[in-house]
Amino acid sequence: MEIRKADYHIHSSISPDAKVSMEEMCEGAYHRECDEIVFTDHYEFYSQNYKSLYFYEEYIQHYFKKLAECREKFFGKLCIKSGMEFGQPHLEAEKALKLVKKYPFDYLIGSVHKLDNVDLEKMEYNQDTVHEIADRYYQELLKLSRWGEFDCMGHLDFFKRHSKRQGFSDEYEQHEGIIRKILTNVIDRGKGIELNTSGIRQEAGEAMPSLTILKIYRELGGTIITVGSDAHKPQDIRADFDQAYELLNLAGFGEISLFEQRRVVGSIKGVTGKIRINY
Ligand SMILES: [Zn+2]
Ligand SMILES: [Zn+2]
Repeated sequence: MEIRKADYHIHSSISPDAKVSMEEMCEGAYHRECDEIVFTDHYEFYSQNYKSLYFYEEYIQHYFKKLAECREKFFGKLCIKSGMEFGQPHLEAEKALKLVKKYPFDYLIGSVHKLDNVDLEKMEYNQDTVHEIADRYYQELLKLSRWGEFDCMGHLDFFKRHSKRQGFSDEYEQHEGIIRKILTNVIDRGKGIELNTSGIRQEAGEAMPSLTILKIYRELGGTIITVGSDAHKPQDIRADFDQAYELLNLAGFGEISLFEQRRVVGSIKGVTGKIRINY
C-alpha cells in the first residue's frame, strides 16, 4: 500500500492523559483518510527511584495486546505502526534500553515533559522563574540528545507550550546555541525530529518546533523528519497538517520519513502545503 497520509504521533486511552480507545482512534484515522498511523502512547521515566503508578512492563504488554486487536480489525484499511513516546528516558537509561530491545517498536519519540519529576505544565511561570525553567528544559533535552536511543525527538521547543500560555516568550534567542548542539547530536546519531502540530491548536499558536528551528535543522544537514498531531482525540488526527507541510516547504524539506522496526523505510514525497501563510 502506498502511504500518502500518515500521522506519527497519536495517543489512545492507554496513555494516562487520554480518554479515547485505540479502536476509536483507528476509526477516526480511517475516516480522516489516513493510510498509516503510529500509536505513540506515553511512557514516562523518572529520576531518583520515583515510583510510578502507570509505567511498568505490564503497561507496554497491554499496549501491544490492544494494538494487535486493532491491527486485525483494520487489516487492509489502515497501517498501524507500534511506537511510544518516551518521556526523559535518559534518566533511567538502563531500564529504557531494556524496553527498547525487548519490544517490537516501529518508532520511538524521545521527549522531555518533566524537570525533576515535575511536569513543565505544573510549574509556576513568572519573571523570576521563566528563564531558569527554559535553561533547565534545554539542558535536559541536551542530555536526551546525547543518550540518543530514540528515532525522533518530540516537540523540540515544547517549553513554549507553557511559557507562551502564561504570556512569556519561547526564549529561543537566549537558547539558540544549545538548540544547535541538540540538533547536531540528533543528526550525528542518525536520528530525526518531529514536527508536532499540537501547538498550532493550543495557546502557543504555532507548531513545535518553530520554522526558525526547522530551518537550522535543515541547514545543519538534518533530513529525517516526521509529522505528528499529538492527537488525544479523533478530531485532532492530522489536524493542521497543511500548515505543517507549508512549514516543511519553507524550511526546505520535500519529504516526510516513514519508519518500520525503528528504521527509515521510505518517505512521503512531494509534501506541499495547500495554504499560504505569512511567516
Ligand atoms: Zn509529548
Ligand atoms: Zn504526545
